[in-house]
Amino acid sequence: MKIDLSGKVALVTGGSRGIGRAIALALAEAGAVVTVNYKESESMANGVVQEIESKGGRALAYRADVGSSEKVAAMVDGILSRFGNLDILVNNAGIIRDLLLLQMEERDWLGVLRTNLDGVYHCSRSAAKGMVLRRWGRIINLSSIAATNAGKGQSNYAASKGAINAFTRSLACELGPKGVTVNAIAPGLIETDMTQKIFPYADGFVRDRIALRRPGSPEDVAPLAVFLASDGAGYITGQVITVDGGII
Ligand code: NAD
Repeated sequence: MKIDLSGKVALVTGGSRGIGRAIALALAEAGAVVTVNYKESESMANGVVQEIESKGGRALAYRADVGSSEKVAAMVDGILSRFGNLDILVNNAGIIRDLLLLQMEERDWLGVLRTNLDGVYHCSRSAAKGMVLRRWGRIINLSSIAATNAGKGQSNYAASKGAINAFTRSLACELGPKGVTVNAIAPGLIETDMTQKIFPYADGFVRDRIALRRPGSPEDVAPLAVFLASDGAGYITGQVITVDGGII
């Protein structure tokens, strides 16, 4: 089945690199118009836009901190005035500030929750209005296996991702009758800037715990986002789907 997203407009938060970049490129490849949101890395976001345009697609880079309700509202307004609608939201932007609890200052706790969880709330709230009116929409949240697999030093990050899973299921109930699906993708160990510090120590984990015996790449995650955005996934909602190479 070839997925055709032509006529759809997508927003990928934190889309300038890593998993978000791969999802932005894959959505564009399927025909969607893509807004590549970024917080700081303008040149990388423009690079993603150029890559999409060089293949005949349409894209726009947009700076906004997802933790700011005002910035997010302005971004969604900007997308609506430029493209007319917003059909697919990928809440991908996320950060880690791994620390043991006794070393974790309030700013480390709140900083992670502000981006990872408040960002999902702000973007979903702004984007859902138009989706509900049009009675079609897709919200795809990037969760993590950290929500369910305990690991020390990640209480802030794990709490934010566990909350995303709960948010996903609750919002799916709310928006399902309006034609909008809400799902989450829970990646395992994916090679990106976020995880680069882990990789020097990850050989044993990869060998002993990952059934496919390799870490994932952003391109291993992106196809699921494209599928969840498609009409073919129209009867899937409220799910948290793991993409981890079989972590045991
Ligand atoms: P990454 O650090 O490469 O990319 C994250 C992106 O989010 C960056 O472009 C960053 O600039 C952006 N961002 C951060 N704060 C932002 C803000 N306030 N507003 C807008 N953009 C912001 O990380 P990644 O590995 O590509 O992670 C993408 C998502 O996948 C995250 O939500 C992460 O928690 C999740 N995830 C990653 C892994 C992994 O192993 N890499 C595993 C599970 C889940």
